[in-house]
Amino acid sequence: MRPFVLDPLFGRASALPGVGPKTAKLFDRLLAKPGAETRIVDLLFHLPINIVDRSNRPTIAQAPYDQIVVLKVRVAEHRKPQGRYAKAPYKVLVEDDTGDAELVFFLANSDWIERSLPIGATRWVSGRLELYDGRRQIVHPDRVLDEAGIAKLPPAEAVHGLTEGLQERFVQRAVEGALAKLPRLPEWHDPSVLAANGLPDFATALHRAHHPESLADVAPAGKARQRLALDELLAQQLALRLVRSRMRRAPGRENKGDGRLARRIEAALPFALTGAQQRALEEIRADLASPKRMLRLVQGDVGSGKTIVALLAMASVVECGRQAALMAPTEILARQHFERLQPLAEGAGMSIVLLTGRAKPSERARLRQTIADGGVDIVVGTHALVQSDLAFHDLGLAVVDEQHRFGVQQRLALGAKGEAADVLVMTATPIPRSLVLTYFGDMDSSILDEKPPGRTPIDTRALPLSRIGQVVDGVRRALATGARVYWVCPLVEENEDLDLAAAQERHEDLTRIFGDVVGLVHGRMKGADKDAAMEAFQAGRTRILVATTVIEVGVDVPEATVMVIEHAERFGLAQLHQLRGRVGRGSEKSSCLLLYKGPLGEAAKARLVTLRQTEDGFRIAEEDLRLRGEGEILGTRQSGLPGFRLADLAAHARLLAIARDDAELILRRDPELAGERGEALRALLYLFERDEAVRLLRAG
Ligand code: ADP
Ligand code: MG
Repeated sequence: MRPFVLDPLFGRASALPGVGPKTAKLFDRLLAKPGAETRIVDLLFHLPINIVDRSNRPTIAQAPYDQIVVLKVRVAEHRKPQGRYAKAPYKVLVEDDTGDAELVFFLANSDWIERSLPIGATRWVSGRLELYDGRRQIVHPDRVLDEAGIAKLPPAEAVHGLTEGLQERFVQRAVEGALAKLPRLPEWHDPSVLAANGLPDFATALHRAHHPESLADVAPAGKARQRLALDELLAQQLALRLVRSRMRRAPGRENKGDGRLARRIEAALPFALTGAQQRALEEIRADLASPKRMLRLVQGDVGSGKTIVALLAMASVVECGRQAALMAPTEILARQHFERLQPLAEGAGMSIVLLTGRAKPSERARLRQTIADGGVDIVVGTHALVQSDLAFHDLGLAVVDEQHRFGVQQRLALGAKGEAADVLVMTATPIPRSLVLTYFGDMDSSILDEKPPGRTPIDTRALPLSRIGQVVDGVRRALATGARVYWVCPLVEENEDLDLAAAQERHEDLTRIFGDVVGLVHGRMKGADKDAAMEAFQAGRTRILVATTVIEVGVDVPEATVMVIEHAERFGLAQLHQLRGRVGRGSEKSSCLLLYKGPLGEAAKARLVTLRQTEDGFRIAEEDLRLRGEGEILGTRQSGLPGFRLADLAAHARLLAIARDDAELILRRDPELAGERGEALRALLYLFERDEAVRLLRAG
């Protein structure tokens, strides 16, 4: 159980003074896990990303765009929305001797505006100055102050990441409330490590991090930032080591197949394995045959043919009379794997079943029974596979596909279903070497660095959204040749409803143009509807599939040769690469059209250029790393892998090394974390929600 001393940190943010239900919702959207509520700790770890230097007071004419500025202005005119335009913004025109600007308030409280900005008065207005339609404007200034107010304003102020509707001052208020709840925690670091690096204690670090006085304080190299990063890295390294040593300690079993099933499968394949597939299989088979437990990662770019490697590995285990399981992150994928594997598996004489959360209760009960009796060799499924009421007769190998969607805990849970089951993890996100160790510890790794032959390169182009008409013409030509087309609309978390509407609208537009061959699939659809939409596209009953990013992971429709991505500028590089990987799977020439809304920022431009230049997932991953910094590359948003909240691996590589060495030393001296420092370290693990590792200690 979590130490009591941490309880205040895991209390709800909505209980803090000044956090009303509306603000709490916004925090949830910004900081909480899906379906969960924001906690105090989430606020504390939501560190400022910038500072506002309010000592900078330019004239209106000199003020830079897209930065927070403080302007001294006269209030010139109120433009209140009238009558049926009541939903239009309330605008206030302000000026100085050099120029003018509009203050724009959506859903305005007009009493407040009239009181705070009386015509003719002098005011100091702070906010992000933007150029919109040739006019300078500040949307929702964060400060409107009079003479007395400006005198009290601190010269530097924190800027936190926000979400639509959430204002900086609400965040600051909540953070202050959260800081006030911070309990005294025992020191978990070795004092000499702190001294050698000049790092403050945890509480001091949090206070300083939230009250930056200069830009250096929000940079990763700041001492407060370093301290917090080291905390997170130590927690992560400790957890990793605990998990790993536990897995390794459990003795493995030999799964030395005689190759008879694998040979039958290979003979039935319409293609020969690539060299990379063969190498990976040799490595896997050697692991399986050894009495040590296998913990192996197979990294292969999209389309590199991981599925067949998984099947052949499973066949080896079935040859030994044991069962194998394949877990996929989504229903669509589990179903697809099942449909692909079933003919091959059954053709070779293995039985295979599909188990997902969507099976009817009676059906599920029957499946559970067969699985427990050993009446089935291979089970394909979703996380339904790790539910506690499912028992295998004798699980020899657990394969986890597209693992970045799963946490360490789920991976372990599937492995734990068997007596010392071997574990194979497959990921399609090429992970730069420098990161493998961080995320997977010293898991062994096989790399599929060779694509099956006969693939033609994908013609990738970037076009402004304004040329969408041309794209529609292109799609029409492609359809005439029998092609199938993915049309992806982004679903960004900040405003899911709006984006869902955009996808639905695009579906309607395209249906108007192309008739009833246009399908739609998005994350909010019911499972069965999603399947139906995917299946219709797979079978060719629909030929254009409008989709949000639910198709990102693993879906395989070789006939699809055109990928249109709207608002490509909103996607990360890795994500664009994954999406593009949905086409170019057959021998037909494929194309990918990246529609962007300009003007593009530098980073977005660089992403699109990289994508046009290469299809090599590892090169793209390295470039992504360079563009974004490591902290984000496998961040929660992008991939679902529990990323770092405080550490930035690009900047904190030295700290990672320290944490790694320290974690090793700690566990060598006190493997059960039983001593006094051990207790502090347990608190650290809970603080960073590495609970699964603590549980292993106890089970230990
Ligand atoms: P991913 O690694 O993205 O999961 P898949 O396993 O879905 O890739 O394989 C992509 C496609 O390539 C599938 O249609 C599969 O049948 C095919 N494929 C796999 N291996 C080979 C091979 N050695 N030669 C030709 N095609 C292959
Ligand atoms: Mg796959």
